[in-house]
Amino acid sequence: MGYVIEAWEPTSLEVAGSADRFPVRRIFCVGRNYAEHAREMGFDPDREPPFFFMKPSDALRPAEAPFPYPSRSENVHHEVELVVALGRGGKDVAKEQALDLVWGYAVGLDMTRRDLQGEMKKAGRPWEAGKAFDASAPCGALRPAAEIGHPKSGAIWLKVNEESRQSGDLSELIWSVPETIEHLSSLFELKPGDLIFTGTPAGVGPVKPGDVMLAGIEGVGEIAVKVV
Ligand code: MN
Repeated sequence: MGYVIEAWEPTSLEVAGSADRFPVRRIFCVGRNYAEHAREMGFDPDREPPFFFMKPSDALRPAEAPFPYPSRSENVHHEVELVVALGRGGKDVAKEQALDLVWGYAVGLDMTRRDLQGEMKKAGRPWEAGKAFDASAPCGALRPAAEIGHPKSGAIWLKVNEESRQSGDLSELIWSVPETIEHLSSLFELKPGDLIFTGTPAGVGPVKPGDVMLAGIEGVGEIAVKVV
């Protein structure tokens, strides 16, 4: 059997310290998962169920690659996030078993055309043009949970050109990683290769061509992404 057009390789992520790669299936993202960030976006943080949106897997870029400033926006924001990579799938996974699905963790950026996202929110329209554009998901190398464990606390931060912008702690997640997986797997059957961007702490803001975004998560890694 062949394909009627040329088939492509799956998007994949580097694994730190290994020549092998992690194949990426889907990218799920959690909205407003840190209280301070919810407030800065004009919402009251609460324990309402988390909500999710998606990016296509081919929006993923290695952190070493420059981030091309996207078209049709004058307000592109950085959002540093803990990225969870699933090595196993599951449906209706209880939070007590949820970490069994996790293969590893990485530092990622949920790049956002904030102006377009704002217009879509106002109009009650979907967010794709604001969130799911090409190259909107720069991501560092994956670190296996078998090596680093499952981080539950630790600094998460982002600087632009050495100036501190975002700063928080993983312990401030409104919905923890196991709780997020529990919710997400009640909506979608999760599959090996799925990624979850778990939300961003306060301090999101604009970038411009020439900027360098430096971001890190204690115990997971650091990335540097140049805006071009
Ligand atoms: Mn985000």
